[in-house]
Amino acid sequence: MCGASLESGHRHVIDLEARRLMCTCRPCFLLFTHRGAAQGKLRSVSERYLRLPKVEVSDIPVGVAFFIREGDRVKAFYPSPAGATEANVSAEVWDEMVAAVPGIAAMEEQVEALLVSRNESWIVPVDACYELVGRIRRTWRGFDGGSEARREMDAFFSGLGAGMVQ
Ligand SMILES: [Zn+2]
Repeated sequence: MCGASLESGHRHVIDLEARRLMCTCRPCFLLFTHRGAAQGKLRSVSERYLRLPKVEVSDIPVGVAFFIREGDRVKAFYPSPAGATEANVSAEVWDEMVAAVPGIAAMEEQVEALLVSRNESWIVPVDACYELVGRIRRTWRGFDGGSEARREMDAFFSGLGAGMVQ
């Protein structure tokens, strides 16, 4: 963003209008956090990983989905070997999910996502979800994903527990 050279494990700022992630150095990242002085279309992607009680979602193609809120609208994203498929979530369905697991309401719009697998639910930084989409694209084989994709997903979710994704 400012041209400083970046270490691995650097953070991201999201352009809310273009929906684009930009790599940032630490000082730039802090500028666009919640508490940072800057306002406008740029926002730092959050850094928290919050485990929630299990959220029940039916019909998830590869066993994992994530949800991003933007104002009153919520979109569901279903990773697949071809990338992530996007679908609108009705207000009724979203309200039912929040009623079942009230912790969902704490999710910040656009910079955080609700990530749901068959066994676990998390509020995560949105860039962690894009990382997962990339891993699934790279490793998925055949109809059920195969052992490498399963290993990648298991590693991803245990990394969430350790706050180690990215
Ligand atoms: Zn910078």
